[in-house]
Amino acid sequence: ETEQHHCEGCGVRIQTEDESRPGYAPSSALKREHIVCKRCYRIRHYNDIAPVEQDPGVYLQKLQEIAHTDSLVVLVVDIFDLAGSWIQGIHRHIGKNPLLLLANKIDLFPKSVKWGRLKDWVRATAKELGVDPIEIALTSAAKGEYFRQTVEAIEHHRKGRDVYIIGVTNVGKSTFVNRLLKEFGEEDEYITTSPYPGTTLDSIYIPLEDGKAIIDTPGIVRKDRMSEWVTPKELQIVMPQTGIKPKVFQLNEQQTLFFGGLVRFDFLEGAKQSFVTYLSNRLYIHRTKLEKADEIQTKHRGSILTPPEDPAQLPKWRKHRIQLNGKEKQDIVIAGLGWIACGQDRAVIDVWAPEGVQVGIRPAII
Ligand code: GDP
Repeated sequence: ETEQHHCEGCGVRIQTEDESRPGYAPSSALKREHIVCKRCYRIRHYNDIAPVEQDPGVYLQKLQEIAHTDSLVVLVVDIFDLAGSWIQGIHRHIGKNPLLLLANKIDLFPKSVKWGRLKDWVRATAKELGVDPIEIALTSAAKGEYFRQTVEAIEHHRKGRDVYIIGVTNVGKSTFVNRLLKEFGEEDEYITTSPYPGTTLDSIYIPLEDGKAIIDTPGIVRKDRMSEWVTPKELQIVMPQTGIKPKVFQLNEQQTLFFGGLVRFDFLEGAKQSFVTYLSNRLYIHRTKLEKADEIQTKHRGSILTPPEDPAQLPKWRKHRIQLNGKEKQDIVIAGLGWIACGQDRAVIDVWAPEGVQVGIRPAII
């Protein structure tokens, strides 16, 4: 009988038989002190990303186990993509356990934002979904902002129990856990992070001194986010890595913006007004007249208007008609991409986004 190993990078069970299946490592790798699967090895050493089959059923099962435990649940959300960060039916999964909401990636926001207001907004949004966190912690796992306070909050609410870390893919769960390991774990032990969804394949246990553990669960994939539909390379462009520089567009009616070739924004009716985009700094925005938009789209989507390099990789565009009421400032939100802050004027806008990608409006957050 052979000893069972798990990959230190993603938690998957190591197997040495089938190279095409998750968890493969050559048997020579088992002699190493730190065992990683071939996939994690490639991500780490060559920045090479090999997508794996995802089984949502297995992930849900993992989550449902939490309801039967006595633990603290930490839900990690991406504050830049809150709409795309929620887990459906979360109450069922966590049962009676307290929930700490970790709003990650605060470094993406301009330094001038009012954090109190942002927190209120996160709390209100959570409440609408029936989630009632014991605390909301703002943090940046990548930059370490408020990391200490976050760890203290976890320690405070844990009360000697296990900690489950849950979240959808790409919210920065692995980055957070890596930072935990770096600060508190043995050296050299880290989890594979990548900008490609679904890197963590199985739960990872991080033992704590009191015999309890931090359990990092695999991320749930949500296909209603723009970020899920681009290639790993394109994701580097679409997903903001550094602080967002909002861009202001003064538009007349009958003008169009293309966000790469991913989304089209037609300002149909309304007085001249400004729209402020909160999107990855690396995403190319093309401005044109509405009457020219179709032609430009046909000719240049996939070349100048990129990503996507291949528009056929995306679902067909679906139109979302948006009526701004002229009463309060509102944001038009595209899950997994960003948002457009609109003014207080009345306006009619068509947003074209791939079918299935969530498009919505909310009261302005900045
Ligand atoms: P997971 O799928 O939830 O485990 O997410 P990862 O930890 O793999 O992170 C997904 C992407 O978000 C990676 O490209 C990270 O670099 C990025 N990321 C994670 N945390 C932060 C953060 O605090 N700020 C910013 N700007 N990016 C982050």
